[in-house]
Amino acid sequence: MVFTHKDFDHHEQVVYCTDPAAGLRAIIAVHDTALGPALGGCRHWSYASEADALTDALRLSRGMSYKAALAGLPLGGGKSVILANPAADRGAMFEAFGRAVECLGGRYITAEDVGTTTGDMSAIRRHTRHVSGVAPDEGGRGDPSPATALGVLMGMLGALELRFDSDTLAGRRVAVQGLGSVGFELCRLLHERGARLIVADIAAERVERAVQAFGAVGVGVDVIHAVEADVFAPCALGAGLNDATLPQLACSIVAGAANNQLAHAGIGPQLKARGILYAPDYLINAGGLIKVAGEYLGFPIEEAERRVRAIRERTGEVLLRALREDADTAAVADTMACEAIGRAVPAASRR
Ligand code: NAD
Repeated sequence: MVFTHKDFDHHEQVVYCTDPAAGLRAIIAVHDTALGPALGGCRHWSYASEADALTDALRLSRGMSYKAALAGLPLGGGKSVILANPAADRGAMFEAFGRAVECLGGRYITAEDVGTTTGDMSAIRRHTRHVSGVAPDEGGRGDPSPATALGVLMGMLGALELRFDSDTLAGRRVAVQGLGSVGFELCRLLHERGARLIVADIAAERVERAVQAFGAVGVGVDVIHAVEADVFAPCALGAGLNDATLPQLACSIVAGAANNQLAHAGIGPQLKARGILYAPDYLINAGGLIKVAGEYLGFPIEEAERRVRAIRERTGEVLLRALREDADTAAVADTMACEAIGRAVPAASRR
């Protein structure tokens, strides 16, 4: 089931971990360690099936290899998923997971992801040092979201420069979908630079907060992707760019934080055909990874920030190469990541 799985991409290792006493069932996928140990968050989620959990681990770990490679980090890509178990004692479950991570001897480094907290990382750390994203009062660097938002801003500036020959945000209309940890911080950065914000979130109080703090205009979650804007910034869930939403887009640029924004590989060429410049998700949302990598590898905070700001230049390189090769930007990002790792480009990205 693993070797023939549609998302299996010659992953180096896929480890199933169980600890019945602690109620743990988890999968750790190590995609590639050519550039360094595989860093990637631990997702804690109620999966409909074991197969769904495996799919998530395989897809997300490959994405982490690409993200680290394009960010120029000496790291590979991995990801873990814990199948939610409401009957389990959370602390015991994450401690058991820490023991499983330790068994890999540093080939895999875990961190926070959807459904996990800095508290969970503390529980993991009782059994392994191969964990990052620990709370500041325990010697870590805390929440990676502000660094992610800064990186997205950098990617957006790179895309604006290419599209409009100017990276000024003053007066530009930016539609932000999702006002969570990253989306709200991104709004703050955009507001400081004079952008006009249109926002949506399923949580009405978050929209209200953005209206009050940034003079944003709130719209419904069903129309945010379709508003006329210079930039559409998806900062909610994945697959927001799909066969239904694509014809409705009314923006020049898509640049946001959400992972896996394209519902399938065919969306990249369609965005290009529509003249919409897409700043690839894992390229511009790498700020958080850079921050947790800095915590694990021990490079100074200033160096981490310099690397986050370098996302702008890297975005320019990817977008310019796509222009030169008349290719879609998502495929070019995949190709450049594979070149950096020394891997064959998967068939779905060869377009
Ligand atoms: P979050 O959970 O804090 O925020 C997500 C927000 O989106 C919430 O406010 C939620 O109410 C809203 N939302 C959900 N569905 C929506 C919909 N249909 N329309 C509008 N809003 C909706 O998450 P986050 O940490 O801000 O991350 C946002 C995205 O960026 C995620 O896709 C995440 O995987 C990705 N990402 C985050 C980081 C990070 O450092 N936090 C790093 C890389 C990528």
